[in-house]
Amino acid sequence: MLSGGIVLALNKFTFLPRNLLTENATQVGSALGVILLSLALADRLNREKKRSFAAQQRLLREERKARLAQEKSLRVQQEANTMLEQRVQERTRDLESLNEQLLELNAKDPLTGLKNRGHFDKAFQAGVVHAYRFEEVVSLLVLDIDHFKDFNDTYGHLVGDDCLKMVAQCIQRHVTRPQDLAARYGGEEFVVLLPDTPIDGAVRVAERIRAEIEKTAFRVSGEMLHLTISIGVCSVAPARADATKEIFACADEALYEAKGQGRNRVVTNQTKAQTISAAPSA
Ligand code: GH3
Ligand code: MG
Ligand code: MG
Repeated sequence: MLSGGIVLALNKFTFLPRNLLTENATQVGSALGVILLSLALADRLNREKKRSFAAQQRLLREERKARLAQEKSLRVQQEANTMLEQRVQERTRDLESLNEQLLELNAKDPLTGLKNRGHFDKAFQAGVVHAYRFEEVVSLLVLDIDHFKDFNDTYGHLVGDDCLKMVAQCIQRHVTRPQDLAARYGGEEFVVLLPDTPIDGAVRVAERIRAEIEKTAFRVSGEMLHLTISIGVCSVAPARADATKEIFACADEALYEAKGQGRNRVVTNQTKAQTISAAPSA
């Protein structure tokens, strides 16, 4: 535009010829200026667009990277969770099996391997409740080795213990039904619980145990020793769900009767058993 002004001035002072270009030099100059400015503006806009596109692309790349990292961390977390769950399950299984072993140990008499008194007491209570509920006959055998004190005094407690183990095995051999239970009640006394077993069946089991112990010879330092056992039997269809004490006392009385009659025998106490039993339903 400035050059156009100078050209126009020179034209007016006749230093330049008068023609269309020199007459309109300023307009031509400003038109050229406008064109140049438009081109510059378009270029500027274009560059801005490219820069914002590149920034957007960069942002997208970073977002994708962040998402991948998030997915990876989620996968790692899930794997850790699964591993943790597996470990917890393994530990729970171990604990359950340990617990079962503990319960088993807790219920066992360590010397004879039979169930102990604690376990018997619970099973006896449950057995009587069951018999009361289903109007069944439950039988209880109380067994006591004859003259065991003398035996211990003569041969010593260790030999006595070995004999207790053998007597326990003998009892266990004749207690065969899955619901039957043989237990060491204490010292040299044992108990056998026979659910759903009437008196004749209970006496038969007791007689088999007694006979086998009588004929078994226990070898002790080259000597063959013999033992006998007395057994009291009580069979009842209990009239009450909590008749355990009476049933036990009934079998215990029968045992003392057996001792009184000369030992090595099976005695029942059905007179007392009648008083504990429910009247038979019509
Ligand atoms: P009875 O025929 O009247 O039953 O006479 P007994 O000598 O067997 O008398 P009792 O039933 O009172 O016997 C208890 C004896 O049993 C005392 C003890 O010498 C013995 N005994 C008790 N527990 C054990 C034990 O764990 N091991 C050993 N070796 N002996 C025991
Ligand atoms: Mg005794
Ligand atoms: Mg005894």
